[in-house]
Amino acid sequence: MRDLLAPPIRRKSRAIHVGNVQIGDGAPISVQTMTNTDTKDVEATVSQITAMVKAGADLVRVSVPDEESVKGFAQIVKKVSVPIVADIHFDYRIAIACAENGAAALRINPGNIGSKEKVAAVCQAAKDHGLPIRVGVNAGSLDKDLLKKYGPPCPEAMVEAALRSAEILESHNFVDYAFSVKASELNLCTASYELLASKTDAPLHLGITEAGGLMAGTVLSSIGISYLLGKGIGDTLRVSLAADPVEEVKVGFAILKSMHIRSRGVDIIACPTCARHGIDVVGAVSELEKRLSTFDKPLKVAVMGCVVNGPGEARGADVAVCGMKNGQAMVYIKGESVGKIQGSQVVDTIERLVRDYKPEQKISFNLLGE
Ligand code: SF4
Repeated sequence: MRDLLAPPIRRKSRAIHVGNVQIGDGAPISVQTMTNTDTKDVEATVSQITAMVKAGADLVRVSVPDEESVKGFAQIVKKVSVPIVADIHFDYRIAIACAENGAAALRINPGNIGSKEKVAAVCQAAKDHGLPIRVGVNAGSLDKDLLKKYGPPCPEAMVEAALRSAEILESHNFVDYAFSVKASELNLCTASYELLASKTDAPLHLGITEAGGLMAGTVLSSIGISYLLGKGIGDTLRVSLAADPVEEVKVGFAILKSMHIRSRGVDIIACPTCARHGIDVVGAVSELEKRLSTFDKPLKVAVMGCVVNGPGEARGADVAVCGMKNGQAMVYIKGESVGKIQGSQVVDTIERLVRDYKPEQKISFNLLGE
């Protein structure tokens, strides 16, 4: 029988290393995000990166649009604990400058970096500093000749753009690269990744580009990325949201968690509530998500409104509460009932049990003072 909790079998890919993070060849699927501060504003950018790392980001990409920003970039990489990928468009000299100033990897878009000679110069700089390159193909910036050949962006054009860049890199004996083929149209994006995965063993960076705001972008990214992950495609991912980039990290981990690929932090199961609910499940979950957002141990918490499904969900959770008719709640640890509390104590109690969690611990308490 199929193991329903097993992660999907992954496509075989070769490895690249971005600082101390391996991508590909079976390494954990890394979650990345991108700053949206002005790179020249070192303090603001470092502060944002610190929040991203707290949320679990394995890698952070920083855009370097001009020569002034290179100076900021050089300072930023010295002040943070996570490998930083320099994102470069248009000016190959900036890519070279970032390679010389602490980048852990370069991301270029061959459609706008310019001539083969310029791409070759970037490649040489990466080689000199031991950096991998992500070839980031985007449906919105395909080479003109590909648009002429294929018409509107299609998977074949996206993949040809990627492989064409790889050829240039390989002609300089550079094989330390990963690909992304992003589009905001879901089917174009996933079909491009599927086609590319059939043609290369290079690691693939997944993402649905320009996916939208927090709600729409989360939905679109979750559908597209989980579809690809389910087929074993993908070695690292970025959820693109027009929102606080810390949310991108949270959504990225939520996708991996829901597919049993990688866990981080508390997984909160909660019923949607109905007329039977005995405790404020919605308010408690909202508060717990805030309080436990940076807690990194993988625990399962269930917050359930009543006894219809509460004890059942509690059996599979590390910590659970289940509302009762009188506004009180039963507390469970590892499925065993350990006492009851007032509904108003649910959030504090769960937070305390999660933070002090020891699976072997047999707590028995009654906060009602009975
Ligand atoms: Fe309603 Fe109880 Fe089910 Fe929650 S667990 S949705 S309160 S029946």
